[in-house]
This record gives sequence, structure tokens and C-alpha cells, in this order.
Amino acid sequence: MQIVRIIEAPIKLESNISNALVNFSEHTVSLLALVTDRKVNGRPAIGLAFNSIGRYAQSGIIRDRMAPRLLAADPGSLLQDGTDLLCPQRVLACAMRNEKPGGHGDRAHSASAIELAVWDLNAKLAGEPASATIARHFNRPARDERVAVYAAGGYYYDGEAQSRLIEELRGYQARGFNRFKIKIGGATLEQDLARIESALVVAGSGSQLAVDANGRFDLDTALAYGRALEPYELLWYEEPGDPLDYGLHAALASEYGGVLATGENLFSHQDVRNLVKFGGARPDQDIFQMDPGLSYGVSEYARMLLELESNGFSRRQCYPHGGQLMGLHVVSGLNAGGTEVYPDVFQPLGGFADEAVITEGVVTVPDSPGFGFEQKSNLIHEFTRLIA
Ligand code: MG
Repeated sequence: MQIVRIIEAPIKLESNISNALVNFSEHTVSLLALVTDRKVNGRPAIGLAFNSIGRYAQSGIIRDRMAPRLLAADPGSLLQDGTDLLCPQRVLACAMRNEKPGGHGDRAHSASAIELAVWDLNAKLAGEPASATIARHFNRPARDERVAVYAAGGYYYDGEAQSRLIEELRGYQARGFNRFKIKIGGATLEQDLARIESALVVAGSGSQLAVDANGRFDLDTALAYGRALEPYELLWYEEPGDPLDYGLHAALASEYGGVLATGENLFSHQDVRNLVKFGGARPDQDIFQMDPGLSYGVSEYARMLLELESNGFSRRQCYPHGGQLMGLHVVSGLNAGGTEVYPDVFQPLGGFADEAVITEGVVTVPDSPGFGFEQKSNLIHEFTRLIA
């Protein structure tokens, strides 16, 4: 098999919302199609993917650096031994040729889209869901057929009222969610506590409600919020400070008794190793949110999970950021804890198949081949336009 074409195009996210630091109205995502010379039913076998959500399209890096390397490579050097299937790790290594280590920024997201497309392709050629291909490749006992999810929302809207937040969470509850996450840090502590009280009207108890500061706070503010949040015994307190400020995280963890969550902006297993060595993370308690769609794909994500396990943590403590089909299959295949979902925002990329049903905070992983983009009508519409 040979890669004959790599098609990439940015699309805009349908969102005019803000967290504590970012307004998403300008955000884009790279859609990617890996076209091969292999034919299935007379049509080229194609792997599809995108670079998750929240970090912009990566057109330049893919077009100018990674795609030319892959198209110039000896086709046999990209295959799994003894097969005519692309090897995700060899494709990734080729895309990363002549790149220095470290400094994992936008390059990690470009590589993710390419590596993930290989998994979609291989799973489709095997006629199975990507979660099954991933579980087998990494010698997992079996994929999880049901995955825990929680509804992420509660963004800041201009001129919003508390009743709007309650209505939003009630809408998620009506669709089968029983755990929720809202933003903090975009208002005063007093206003955020009022938002939390409103959210609790729907969530029922702190154990069903997480809050996310999106890396906004300095240590003093993170500690002040921690003191105010602790009595609620929240599901978790997410990204209090800068994602790479492990010292802040460790200082907060030594004072805040509740669950902390972070990791969506860490893109390598070395960064994860540093987080657990120096960030004060607690086994059997804290939550890790690295996103395979942002961090070089499934292969690097699997290494992150091994890194956590070798330091006494469980992979069930991992709930990837992103809330999309690729993350769902990776969580299922690698037996992570669960995943985020944005039920109302970040279309057409966020969420699962049109027919997906969420019951008491759990979704059944679909059996359709690959990542199952074909079962999500607004997303496959965009991929169809990309390939055409
Ligand atoms: Mg977050």
C-alpha cells in the first residue's frame, strides 16, 4: 500500500463562546484525508481524521513539512512488518523526520491528524471499529464497549443570567448526562460561586460537577479558589494554573484536598512524566486529560498511559479533553476512564454518531468501521467535500 495524496483543509468551529482565556469564534480545525492506492469496492481506501478541538488548524505544518516527507518516503518503509498495512508509528516517525525533540506545540497537533488517519484507515480495512484495532495493537484485554462521558459546557456568554446556565445543564440532563462541567475564572470568585450554586441545582451534588479554570490563575488565586471550592467536594477542579507550571500544581495539591485535573495541554509522555514527578498529582485521586487528537496521536497517548502506570497511577484516571469520536475510540481501545463531550458547541466536530444515545452518563461505542465519522452526518458532509 502507498499513500498517494494527503488532503488537508481548515474548517471553522461553530462556536461563539468563551472560557477564562479564549474566545472560540476564530478557531479552526484541520480536516485530513490520507488517500491510498488500495482499492475497496473499486474506490480508494482513505483514512480520515482531524486535530481535535481548541488548538487551530495546522495547514502550514502539514502542507509544507509533514505531507512532503510522507509522499517522498519509500512506501515499504511505512508498512507494518509482513503486511500491506500502514504502520502508525512509522508514519508518525516519517512525518517527524528532521524535527528536533521537545517544544511540543502545534507540530504535535499536525502529527495527530496524520497518525489518527492511519488508525481510521486500518480499522476500515479490517471492517471493525477503531477501538477494536487499537485494543488489539496495544495488547489490551478487550475494548470497553461502554464509556463514561460527562457534559462540558457552562461557558461565559455576554450578558448571561444564572437561569441560562441552569437551562443549559437541564438540557444535558434531558439527553442522558448526569455529570457536568462548567467554566470558572472568567468572572470574580463571588460570581463564579453563584454559577456553581446554579449548576448544583441541576447536578444535585458536588460529586457530579467539575469546574475548569483553563489555566488562568496564579498561585494565590488558585489557592483562594481552592479554599472556596473545597467544601463543595466537586468532581474535580481543572487546570487551575498554567499547564506547565508544575510547581503551582504541586503547591495547590498540598493544600487542596479535593480532586485536581489537568493535562489537556501536555503533548508528550515526557511532559506527563514531569507532571507526575513534580506536579504533586495523587494516585487514585487526580484526573489526567491529555488528548490523543492534540498529542501526536494514539501511539504517544498509549505511552503516556504507560508512563502514568509506571508511576503508580491508573489509566482509569484519564479522561481526554476533546469530546469527539476519535477520543471515544481511543478511550475504549486503551481502557481509559472516560471522555468529555460538548453536547451543544464545537460542531461539526464535537460529539458522537447521530444515533448515539447517552444513558446515565454512559455511551455505547459504535460498531461502525473506523472512527465512524460516516455515522455523524454533519461531519461526514465536511469530509466528503474535502475529498471531492
Ligand atoms: Mg479544560
